[in-house]
Amino acid sequence: MKKVLAVLLIFIFNGIFTISPAFAENVMFNVETKKVHKVSCPHAQKCTKNCIKIDRKDAYHQGGKPCKTCGG
Ligand SMILES: [Zn+2]
Repeated sequence: MKKVLAVLLIFIFNGIFTISPAFAENVMFNVETKKVHKVSCPHAQKCTKNCIKIDRKDAYHQGGKPCKTCGG
């Protein structure tokens, strides 16, 4: 019974971490223009060549600037 509870707790915690935006939110970072887009941004969806999916924190660390459309 204890084991079941532990497994259940792991599932709940995993759910919180994936939903919470405070934890490692991925953005699309254009390495050429240094623009930071939300993954859902139409510009990010068009940008397939120069864009990489990285952590928002890392994108701004690399000199990223927020996109004017989606706000980064
Ligand atoms: Zn954008």
